[in-house]
Amino acid sequence: MLDYSTPDIESSEEEIFEDIGNHDERFSWILIWILKYQQRYRLPDTATDSLLKFIHYLLTYLDQDQFTNFPKSLYLVRKLMGLGLCINNYATCLACNKLYNHNEVITKKPGQIPICLRCTFVEYPNHPMFKMRQPCNQLLAKEVPTKDGILYRLLLSYPIINIKNQLVIIQPKRI
Ligand SMILES: [Zn+2]
Repeated sequence: MLDYSTPDIESSEEEIFEDIGNHDERFSWILIWILKYQQRYRLPDTATDSLLKFIHYLLTYLDQDQFTNFPKSLYLVRKLMGLGLCINNYATCLACNKLYNHNEVITKKPGQIPICLRCTFVEYPNHPMFKMRQPCNQLLAKEVPTKDGILYRLLLSYPIINIKNQLVIIQPKRI
């Protein structure tokens, strides 16, 4: 039986967004409109993210200087607006998309070796052929040289809203 469950890191290291208060007042009304539009028509994050990328392209095409700080993604909008969402970042395998606890893949100090540097997912663990039981073995992190030594950083991350926040969002409001 294959285990497709995500790693249990919901309560470990969550990125909590707080209003950092430096968003540009010239376009913050546009961001609020987009978020209200998403809420009104119950658009998925992927659709809203795509809309944001288009509006970013449009605005910077019209006036590069004025809109250079306009956020390019829904992730950045939520971060800028301080919506209080907790985001879990998972390390993702480029080959098979298995998710890993990002703390096991990155290093915070030079000289450390990640707990999990390569993907261990086996698609057919009970296959009679030895070759088919081999793990994916895709590299999950890249080496980043710093002045103090090598750090490991994710090759691909998958940010997702904490399940507690998702439940709050979908829970019907009581009047
Ligand atoms: Zn893999």
